[in-house]
Parts: sequence; C-alpha cells; structure tokens
Amino acid sequence: MQDIIQLLPDNIANQIAAGEVIQRPASAVKELLENAVDAGATQIKLIVNDAGKALVQVIDNGKGMSELDARMAFERHATSKISHIDDLFQIKTMGFRGEALASIAAVAQVELKTKRAIDEVGVFVTIENSKVTQQEPVATENGTSIAMKNLFFNVPARRNFLKSNPAELKHIIDEFIRVAMAFPEIFFSLTSNGQQVFHLEKGTLKQRIVQILGNNYSAKLVSVQERTDYLDIIGFVGKPETAKKTRGDQYFFVNNRFIKSAYLNHAVMSAFAEMIPKDSFPMYALFIDLDPAQVDINVHPTKQEIKFEDEKIVYAFVQSAVKHALAQFSITPTLDFEL
Ligand code: ADP
Ligand code: MG
Repeated sequence: MQDIIQLLPDNIANQIAAGEVIQRPASAVKELLENAVDAGATQIKLIVNDAGKALVQVIDNGKGMSELDARMAFERHATSKISHIDDLFQIKTMGFRGEALASIAAVAQVELKTKRAIDEVGVFVTIENSKVTQQEPVATENGTSIAMKNLFFNVPARRNFLKSNPAELKHIIDEFIRVAMAFPEIFFSLTSNGQQVFHLEKGTLKQRIVQILGNNYSAKLVSVQERTDYLDIIGFVGKPETAKKTRGDQYFFVNNRFIKSAYLNHAVMSAFAEMIPKDSFPMYALFIDLDPAQVDINVHPTKQEIKFEDEKIVYAFVQSAVKHALAQFSITPTLDFEL
C-alpha cells in the first residue's frame, strides 16, 4: 500500500488558518488597526469600500518596515513582537502571533506601501494567494499603508457567507470604535465609500468617548478610578439616567485590549443594581490594567476572550470601583469598612 499523508502546501495551510482569524472584513479591520497601533502611529486612517468587501485600507504614520520585512510580514508565524516563549506572558503589544497578515494574504489581494524614517525610498509590494506578485521602490510618506482588496476572491463559499453591506459595515464600525476608544492619544478616521464616518482628533479618554458615543454623554459621565497593588481600573460609567433599553455602549478593556466578559459585565450591573430600571443597560468604558502575567490572552483566535489568573478578585474590584463612583447616586449610603 502507498503512504497517503502529505504536508499541505503553504497557501492551503494559510487559507485554512485564515478561517479562524479573518471571518469577515471587520476581522481584517481589527488586525490592521492593531498593527498600526503597535507600530507606534499617532495617526491612523481607515478606508473601506463596499463594507470592506471590496477594500479595507489602513494608512498609518508608524515606524514602517524595511524592504525584507515588508515581504516577511506575510509569512505565517512571522512577527517582530515576541521571540521567546517567556515573552508570551509579558505581552505589551496588541499582536504577537504573526498570523494576521499571513491570513489576510491567503484570502485577499494585498497591496502594501511602507517606508521607515531612515530610508530614502519606500517599498511597494503586491501579494496574491500568499505569494509576492510584484515589488518595486516607491516614493511614499513614513509609515505603512496596507490595502486588502476583494476579500475571499479565491474562496467563493466564504464570500457567500458575508452578510449585507449594512451588517458588515456595522461590524467594521464596532471594531473601529473598540480600538479608537482604547487609544484616545491617537488620531483616527474612518471613511466608507468616500463618506467620512468618524474623524477623531486626539484628546482625553472622556473626549474620545463623547466623540464616539455622542454629545449627550458629555455631562453624563462619572469617572471610575481605583488603584490597587493588584490592578488599576480607570474609565467612565454613564449616569444612571442614561441607561438604555438596549445593550450597546458597554466596553471592557484589559491592558488596552477590548474584551467580552459576561462575568465582569455582571459585576458592573450589580453595582448599578437599584439605581436603574430592570432590563436597562448602563453605558460603561472601563480599563483594567494588571500584570500581563495575570491574564492569558492566547485562548481565542480574536483575543476577545481572555482568562484571568484570578477572576474573582477582578470581579470584586470592578464591582467596588463602580459602586464607589456611583455612591453619589445611591439612596442608601454605601458603608465602606474592612473587616
Ligand atoms: P503580529 O502583529 O502578531 O506580529 P501580523 O501578521 O499582524 O503579526 O504582522 C506581522 C509583522 O509585520 C508585525 O510583527 C510587524 O513587525 C509587521 N507589521 C505589520 N503591520 C505593520 C505596520 N502597520 N507598521 C509596521 N510594521 C507592521
Ligand atoms: Mg498583528
């Protein structure tokens, strides 16, 4: 009998892996924005056409790439962010797996333009089916522009799974907001089919929240601030009167990374308890900072679910921080003593 096992060619392996990282245009938006943040950009522009199905482009003024790095960046497991297994427990960057660009290059046509400040000219690279198809020097600004065109052009079955343009654009806006909210010191803009959707000047967190969620929050944000040896919590909650009938404006960030956590959401909800009507949802944008060794962000491909070393402590701190912030709205005064 003949042996039947063979190694998959790289482009097929990349396409399979891409299924986890790049599910829709918004996944590419998240990855490209995070790369721009990691590159130290102070200005990040996002351009989408056709809800990202035709084009997702991110232009940053970050540190750029060398000619060789510009090609290497699209290899699987190619990263400049970790080099040692121990680094996994001290991650300070948004990316670290070196999978995003490889995944994008496996399922879309990519055009990269990049230049470092120390280089005279930049480099322009095009990639299709995981292979560099063109490379030439180019005159360009310092920083990087990555354009992802025709997502899933080579995987029609996946392309057919994409939702309507309004639905996909909504996902894109969600991802854009999650990154923009975490980095108020960076200018962000979003243009969709030539129309400007967001233009966010750099400023304070409070200003950024109001820019994104609307002026009606400007006098309605309550500051949350609690610093302990174990973790810091800063951010804002909406005054109880701003609670809405629909869930929506609720954001948790752990070490500046947006996360979803029903458990921590419960901690906030319980702090609001009697102050808001049943079945209504308060606004919050809370930033939890703690030693990266206390969280595992490597449990989910999109890194939106994470594991805390000690979830109960985090819950207790979140609840008490929000309670303190809301004390002024409480009918029964909160007693604050330690046993
Ligand atoms: P990761 O972010 O996990 O390292 P990516 O596939 O997203 O993996 O990117 C691979 C590498 O390409 C990064 O580690 C970085 O060195 C480089 N890179 C990607 N995007 C940019 C950018 N906008 N500016 C500068 N370098 C970038
Ligand atoms: Mg990345």
